[in-house]
Amino acid sequence: MTHQPRFLPLSGNEGDKLGIRQFDIILVTGDAYVDHPSFGTALIGRALWDAGFTVGIIARPDWTTSADFTELGKPRLFFGISSGNVDSMVNNFTPNLKRRSDDVYSPGGIPKRPDRATIVYTNRVHELFPDTPIVLGGIEASLRRFAHYDYWQDRVRQAILADAPADLLVFGMGEKQVVEISRRLAYGETVASLRDIRGTAFRMDIVEWRSKRPEGIIELPGFTEVAQDKTSYARAFAMHYREQDPIRGRTLAQPHPKTVVVQNPPALPLSTEELDHIYDLPFSRCAHPSYTQRIPALEPVQFSVTSHRGCFGACSFCALTHHQGRIIQSRSSASIIREVTRMMRMPEFKGIVQDVGGPTANMYCLSCDLWEKYGACRDKHCSPSCKNLDTSHRYQGELLKKLREIPGVKKVFIGSGIRYDLALADDSGYMEMICDHHVSGHLKVAPEHVIKNVTEAMNKPDREVFDQFCERFETLQKRKKKRQYILPYFMSGHPGCSINDMVELAVYIRDHQLYTEQVQDFTPTPMSVSTCMYYTGLNPFTLEPVHVPKGKEKKIQRALMQYRDPDNRRLVIEGLNAAGRIDLIGNGRQFLVPATDHGIYKYAIKRSRNKK
Ligand code: SF4
Repeated sequence: MTHQPRFLPLSGNEGDKLGIRQFDIILVTGDAYVDHPSFGTALIGRALWDAGFTVGIIARPDWTTSADFTELGKPRLFFGISSGNVDSMVNNFTPNLKRRSDDVYSPGGIPKRPDRATIVYTNRVHELFPDTPIVLGGIEASLRRFAHYDYWQDRVRQAILADAPADLLVFGMGEKQVVEISRRLAYGETVASLRDIRGTAFRMDIVEWRSKRPEGIIELPGFTEVAQDKTSYARAFAMHYREQDPIRGRTLAQPHPKTVVVQNPPALPLSTEELDHIYDLPFSRCAHPSYTQRIPALEPVQFSVTSHRGCFGACSFCALTHHQGRIIQSRSSASIIREVTRMMRMPEFKGIVQDVGGPTANMYCLSCDLWEKYGACRDKHCSPSCKNLDTSHRYQGELLKKLREIPGVKKVFIGSGIRYDLALADDSGYMEMICDHHVSGHLKVAPEHVIKNVTEAMNKPDREVFDQFCERFETLQKRKKKRQYILPYFMSGHPGCSINDMVELAVYIRDHQLYTEQVQDFTPTPMSVSTCMYYTGLNPFTLEPVHVPKGKEKKIQRALMQYRDPDNRRLVIEGLNAAGRIDLIGNGRQFLVPATDHGIYKYAIKRSRNKK
């Protein structure tokens, strides 16, 4: 069956109408079903349907009963289970570990996703259909594929395949892997025999591992060791981090008490033709019509376009290296134009393309001479200073020009963040172009910090580069009638950052009159370099100690970033006191907090004197 329906079926009735007696594959997800290429389930479902398989979706099931899980019957090939577009714990809790009252991936924002959704759904499906293969996918499974630190339980958890009764795990974007799994199961192979598919992980019996350990597999320190010893944890992390390259990455194995988890090398990058083919599939770009309430996560992306995948920035707090990888995979401009042209047929489209980008907007079509043959360097970060990296924004410029010239398109925005060191490295008029055509009032950039030891821990460019970028941006404003602003993203509480560093950042924000509503307090999400530092207190690549702000110090750091907020005054004063900077308390623009609250001010002075 290759004809794609307007929406993939969410119910037995919809399946009946399409003449489906048994689905080949059933996808279970914690998100509402939104048929848009930014939503993983839609992407995987459409790719499978395109490959000739029928797909039903169980979205946001009630896991306390079996009714939702049995609605579509038993699939012919397998269940594919994911928590949804984000990790369920990240989705369900704030960085301060408070339960969120809403879920943007649900109709009306009403939360219904269980904690550790992948495990909960898998247990339920396995109970009801014990003989049917289960394949895990999505961010939650992908980034928990090795033993990992879990911030919400403050302990190291086993790899998810050791915790959930699933047969295979797909990591990365997954279209290639799920199609290959489906084809091979359809040809009669058993799921246990599918051990050679790139971009997948599987379980191996301990006896088998000990008796015939296949050659060429790198063994990571096991779960028991990394759960007890932070240095081993950091070592294991560096080992698997360095192998997440599709060209040079090797197979990895991590023993657990009852099983051994084996990760094959990542899937090979998709060619432009393969990516084009996926994004040319007939997504309706709408939520399934059975939902009566809007899905908040759809609105900011409904008319956005993915131009590429991958990011070579390797920011420490982002786990994208473990998911999409560093090698950039770009679509053709023709395919992107076709997508925008399809949007124009939708009555809701008002001529505004909300975003054309990827993880970093200005990496479209950028490449390194070495990627194809050798992969991305193992021990070196990509940056504009590398002579092998082509930093020309020519292709992105041409693409954006073509898009804004489509009749009926009024504006094409860049909503994703841009990497300012790359933008600066290109002096062919890129910044002029984005300021003239693709920035609304604000340009989002993410310096994250300005103090060298912190930017180094974050693997972000130095403050000088950001300053240069701001200067360039300001120069461009002189010839504009309507002023634009830089909207910088800064982060507090990152490993390597002290209260003194945050005071310096606050002073920088004051001196540059930056608007900082966007406050990010570092959250240790699974499998980022920063999370490894947070848990171990070590830089995983050098094993050198790193300062880790926690508890009260973390709160003070966050408050310092929003020092103007009166609610933060007590914490800011406490931070200034700890940093020996009570000179920043006083009345006037040069001070961070006013000396009007005498009680608090006196408290700071007193503590300061006591210290001396
Ligand atoms: S040669 Fe340079 S751009 Fe290429 S992978 Fe290595 S560091 Fe990155």
